[in-house]
Amino acid sequence: MTPLWNANLTEERETFVTHLECSMTGERYEADQVHGLSRVGRPLLVRYDLEAVREQLTREALAERPLDMWRYRELLPVRKVENIVSLGEAATPIVSLPRTAAAAGGSNLLVKDEGRLPTGSFKARGIAMAVAMAKAFGITKIAMPTNGNAGAALAAYGSRAGIETVVFCPDDTPEINVREIAAQGARVYRVNGLIDDCGKIVGEGAAAGHWFDLSTLKEPYRIEGKKTMGLELVEQLGWDVPDVIFYPTGGGTGLIGMWKAFGELEALGLIGSKRPRMIAVQAEGCAPMVKAFEAGEEHAERWEGAATVAAGIRVPRAVGDFLILRAVRESGGVAMAVSDADLMQAVDDAARLDGLLLCPEGGATLAAWRQAVAAGLVGADERSVLFNCATGLKYPLPDASKTLDRHQPVDLASL
Ligand SMILES: *Cc1c(COP(=O)(O)O)cnc(C)c1O
Repeated sequence: MTPLWNANLTEERETFVTHLECSMTGERYEADQVHGLSRVGRPLLVRYDLEAVREQLTREALAERPLDMWRYRELLPVRKVENIVSLGEAATPIVSLPRTAAAAGGSNLLVKDEGRLPTGSFKARGIAMAVAMAKAFGITKIAMPTNGNAGAALAAYGSRAGIETVVFCPDDTPEINVREIAAQGARVYRVNGLIDDCGKIVGEGAAAGHWFDLSTLKEPYRIEGKKTMGLELVEQLGWDVPDVIFYPTGGGTGLIGMWKAFGELEALGLIGSKRPRMIAVQAEGCAPMVKAFEAGEEHAERWEGAATVAAGIRVPRAVGDFLILRAVRESGGVAMAVSDADLMQAVDDAARLDGLLLCPEGGATLAAWRQAVAAGLVGADERSVLFNCATGLKYPLPDASKTLDRHQPVDLASL
């Protein structure tokens, strides 16, 4: 039997991509050609014939489709079913944190748990889309810099598509990620530098024609995959947006993608003009967006000496910085930094109080929500959604066990 989430792969598809556009200058680029960054070195955004999409992508049509990210196909760039590369990108659940919220004097606190996706992180959404497009274009070799989860997703989807993959990561990337990347069929190199140092190697290899560069926002389609978080969230909330979204921000693909999704949904008449306040959450040890936000700048400077346990948001420089800052400002949100101690405490609390094991980056969003509630930035009864972007099981956990000698008398009542 065909798995539920793959059922639509057998249907005829139609896509509505009209062209691509430079996110900075608005310059137009043709669809159906291989693209990297725009001429001015900024991300390209995919544009659709939203008038035509409006007729097909209705609430009724969606009700008939499998609960996966491909259900929004009219708003996705893949033109042919045969090019879809899928490992089962099922819709992720929204889980409440009632006790954690109450302990901080709040309520209505929800987590979109992206750790349930293939390869255990939301990188699957973006990479599935980018690899599908690479397959459509006949690309045979892809390279990427990663802090761990993106490389793991690339390895898996590359193997699935029969595309060769090479991944470069900082040498202190979480060990499980480095091994997972290799286990899923990529060649992985540990580099004595940060993710942008790895990106430089990837860029040089791409310029010399050795491979295609799939770095965050340096090709147009990862945003389209990440955008499905916004589409899915709104549909799950009964075609409504939450009041506030807390997003752990590295390269910012998800934040930019969701912002784009809300705009498209409004154009389709599926939501109104209300937007959630977008909170870009970073770690105190790597907070370029927070610094730029507070200084009122449009672009962020590279953060020197970046350090945080939350590897996924240890991104000193983002090519889409202005898009992150623009979305945050337009939404009436803010950029906030939290300490490593606070984000680890948040992981601990959500697991003990509500049974949900967050990843450190997810913990950062909870720590930020607490700060925001305490500062009066978020009302106690406002509906907040935190993004937990990977499964907490991918990260080292402290050992809190005790040993028991079965050859000695065991005092059962004391256990
Ligand atoms: C990549 C990643 C992030 C950051 O996501 P962006 O959309 O690139 O900002 C956050 N958390 C985890 C676990 C990640 O893997």
